[in-house]
Amino acid sequence: MIIEPKIINNVCLTSHPVGLAELVKRQIKWTQEQPRVDMPKRVLVLGGSTGYGLASRISAAFAGGADTLCVSFEKEPGKRAGSPGFYNNRVVDQEAQKLGLKAESINADAFSHDTRKSVIERIKTFFDGGQVDLVVYSLASPVRIDPDTGETYKSVLKPIGQNFKGHSVNFLKKEVVEAEIPVCEESEIEPTVKVMGGEDWKLWIDALAEAGVLARGVKTTAYSYIGPDITFPIYREGTIGQAKKHLESTAHELDEKLKAMDGEAFVAVCKALVTRASSVIPVVPLYIALLFKIMKAKGIHEGCMEQMYRMMADRIYKTGQADRDENQLLRMDDWEMREDVQEEIHALWDKVTTENLEELSDIVGFTQDYMELHGFDVNGVDYSADVDVL
Ligand code: NAD
Repeated sequence: MIIEPKIINNVCLTSHPVGLAELVKRQIKWTQEQPRVDMPKRVLVLGGSTGYGLASRISAAFAGGADTLCVSFEKEPGKRAGSPGFYNNRVVDQEAQKLGLKAESINADAFSHDTRKSVIERIKTFFDGGQVDLVVYSLASPVRIDPDTGETYKSVLKPIGQNFKGHSVNFLKKEVVEAEIPVCEESEIEPTVKVMGGEDWKLWIDALAEAGVLARGVKTTAYSYIGPDITFPIYREGTIGQAKKHLESTAHELDEKLKAMDGEAFVAVCKALVTRASSVIPVVPLYIALLFKIMKAKGIHEGCMEQMYRMMADRIYKTGQADRDENQLLRMDDWEMREDVQEEIHALWDKVTTENLEELSDIVGFTQDYMELHGFDVNGVDYSADVDVL
C-alpha cells in the first residue's frame, strides 16, 4: 500500500515503516560513530519505542554494548500500518541482534501488574545472571489504569489557578495563534499525577527489587522537564508540572532504597524536543521552534539521540555516578537553560508573528522533526513505492 501522512488536530494517524526504519538506522549509525560508553550491560527500558526512551535504548545498545529489553505499548500492524514505535522496536531488535547483542521488545501495558510479572520472568532468563543494571523509565501516556483498583485516570495539560492566554503555533499551517486554555478543575490535578507522576515508576522498582532482579549497583532514571517562565503556566506550574514534581520526589524515595545495594535513582531533566508527547502541548511547539533556531545557531542543538548519548557518556557513566545538582536532578537541559539562549528567546517571544515565523524561528525544523517521528519526509525514501506494513 501507499502510505501518506494523515494529520488531525496535530496528531498524525499514519506511519511509514520504511521511513522509520531508515531513521532508526541513521541514529544507530551516528551512535556507533561516537566514543564507546563504558557501562554495565543489562538494560531495561520502559517506554523505549520512541522519543527519549528509544534514544536511551540505542545509546545503551550501540554505544554501550548492552543487552536491552524494551517495554512499550504500540499498535501492531494489521490492515493498516502499526504505530511508529512498533517499527522502531523491530529495527532496534534486528540491528542489535546482528551485532550479537540480546534485544527484545515487549508490547504490553506497562502500567499493569501482569506486564510487570511477565517482564520480571523474562528478565530472569533473558539477561546474563537474570538481573538488570539500569532501568530507564520513559513512559509518556495520556491515560493509566490503576492496577489495583481498575480505575482509569486521564492526564490533562492545563494551567492551575487561572486561565492561560498566550502565543502558540499551528505548526502545520505555520501560523502564530493566540491560545486560550481554561484553568483546570481541582479534580483534574490528581489524575494527571496518577498518570505521569512517580507512582508507577515506584511500583516497578519495588517489584523488581522484591523479585531480586536488580543487580548490585543498579541505577534507575526517569525523565522530567522544567523549562523557562514562558511555558511555566502550562507546564511546570500546570497539571503536568505537578506530576513531574511527584516523579522527582519519588526519585528521592527510590534513591534511599537503592543505596542499600550501592544503587541510585534520579530524575534527568531533559531538553524540550519534538516527540509525539510534546507536540500536543499548547505553547510548547512555538517555544521549541524558537529554541531550535537559537541553539542551532550557537552549535549546541541536540536531538533525543545526541542528548541521551551525552547523558550516558558524560553525565552518568564517565564517573559511574549521575552528575546531579543540589536538587538531586541531572540537568540535561543545561544548554537549553543557558542564560544567553533564554535571553534570546525572550527577546523574540513578543516579536514572533505568522509573517516572520520562518525567519525568527526554526518552524521548518520543528515540522520536519514532527513528520520524521512518523516516518515521513525522510530524505531518500521513495514514498510512491508500495509498502508492506507487516
Ligand atoms: P514518547 O511519546 O516519544 O514516548 C513514550 C513511550 O511510552 C513510548 O515508548 C510508548 O510506547 C510508551 N508508553 C506509553 N504508554 C504506555 C503503556 N501504557 N505501557 C507501555 N508503554 C507505554 O514520549 P517522550 O517525549 O520521549 O517522553 C518520555 C519521557 O520524557 C516523559 O516522561 C516526558 O515527560 C519526558 N520528557 C520529554 C521531553 C520532550 O520535550 N519530549 C522533555 C523532557 C522530558
